[in-house]
Amino acid sequence: MNIQKTNKVAWHFNHSYTKLPKDFFVEQLPVKVSNPKLILLNEPLLKTLGLDKEALSPDAWGNIFSGNTLPEEAKPIAEAYAGHQFGHFALLGDGRAVLLGEHINPEGNHFDIQFKGSGQTPYSRRGDGRAALGPMLREFIISEAMSALNIPTTRSLAVVTTGESVMRDEVLPGAILTRVAKSHIRVGTFQFASTLNDINKLKALADYTIDRHYPECKAKDNPYLAFLNAVIERQALLISQWMHVGFIHGVMNTDNMSISGETIDYGPCAFMDRYHPETVFSSIDRQGRYAYSNQPPIAQWNLARFAETLIPLIDHNADKSIELASQSVNNFSDQFQIAWLKGMRQKLGLFNEEASDIELINELLVLMQKNKADYTLTFRHLSSDAILKDTIFKDASFKVWYKNWLHCIQKQKEGEETSRLKMLKHNPAVIPRNYLVEKALSLAVADQDYKFLNDLIAALLKPYEDSKVFSEPPIEEEKSYKTFCGT
Ligand code: AMP
Ligand code: MG
Repeated sequence: MNIQKTNKVAWHFNHSYTKLPKDFFVEQLPVKVSNPKLILLNEPLLKTLGLDKEALSPDAWGNIFSGNTLPEEAKPIAEAYAGHQFGHFALLGDGRAVLLGEHINPEGNHFDIQFKGSGQTPYSRRGDGRAALGPMLREFIISEAMSALNIPTTRSLAVVTTGESVMRDEVLPGAILTRVAKSHIRVGTFQFASTLNDINKLKALADYTIDRHYPECKAKDNPYLAFLNAVIERQALLISQWMHVGFIHGVMNTDNMSISGETIDYGPCAFMDRYHPETVFSSIDRQGRYAYSNQPPIAQWNLARFAETLIPLIDHNADKSIELASQSVNNFSDQFQIAWLKGMRQKLGLFNEEASDIELINELLVLMQKNKADYTLTFRHLSSDAILKDTIFKDASFKVWYKNWLHCIQKQKEGEETSRLKMLKHNPAVIPRNYLVEKALSLAVADQDYKFLNDLIAALLKPYEDSKVFSEPPIEEEKSYKTFCGT
């Protein structure tokens, strides 16, 4: 079927990825859908891209974001990649996504525009290339919440329903998400490059990625080692930010780790309510490989796989190269610890950097675990002094801890008030809680009722403002809460 082209909106596409060797992608049009309908359009993001919502009707936007009408300059491709999935290596690729190109906004910034759920590609393996509405709305909600929490992430521009059903365990409405990213280059893209056994192709990918995301590395003595270090640094920061808000990615396979340092691929991810370091939500993560507290070591494991791909570029002498790369990967733990501690100090209003801070923080976490305290609200209520109703605040050991902490913030030259103000800016009141997300999705998917979903998104965009409805913890403990891969 032919796809119509439009130039009514100010898209401006660049196609730098297609200058890489042909192994890295295939040209692939989105497969047309029968009856596209616009469900969500992200107006602030549209503005950031320099696009005008009013330029088109909702139906026309629906046609664009379903892939039925392509922007004139779009040249869709599916990208090749590989990855370790739960530790097992596989050749993958965009099996249900196409990249329209990199849109350049009026400020000159580049944004990958990708459709997810846009039909089969040569990398689909046995998959149908499609996505269901619930998981695409879920990615929209959680990625936008992460962005509002100032955590690097891919963004969600639009969700359309396709008018077609997808077969999963049940028949579900099909949908397409438009994802916006700095790029879709993953650790798995480098692993794919390694499988080509051609140093020139590997170098082409590395040079391209450095140009795009880490240009400052070019001037360094060893640009590829500097590149590795820069990626490690961004991941250490990113994972620390996840830990600060209680985010559990759920499927930290190497194909789901972005080289640009953005959170990518919102499948079975979820935020933890009650604090427990071993929390796992994903139904397929039976060993707890991607549990909350395993995220830092897993990130390091993934970065070791990334480092391995760069060995041929770091030094001609393989032994020396391995030594340098290993040192870099080993540095991850310290970098993570520094970033984590910095954020935890902010959460507790600590300006003075004291050696005893770590103990203070860890004691609180132990008390939170013991009291099954809500992770988000414990910090929020500490910030605002509105603390008395949480169970943890009645615990005798907590009272001792609290006195100690209060003493720490009162003796700082900034004073208690400044500390609390700082804390209110670092401890969100609203996160995408599982019960809220599930309610929004079930109203949307079962009843085509999008009001609650839109209200939830609006609250998530202001995470540091208390909300009567959306700050509340779940009424009952969600022991059995399970998430499923977004396929
Ligand atoms: P994910 O679990 O979403 O990270 O996907 C892992 C791999 O499976 C990627 O290569 C996806 O493109 C592919 N994949 C996931 N769902 C589908 C589907 N419905 N059809 C084809 N490929 C898929
Ligand atoms: Mg993926």
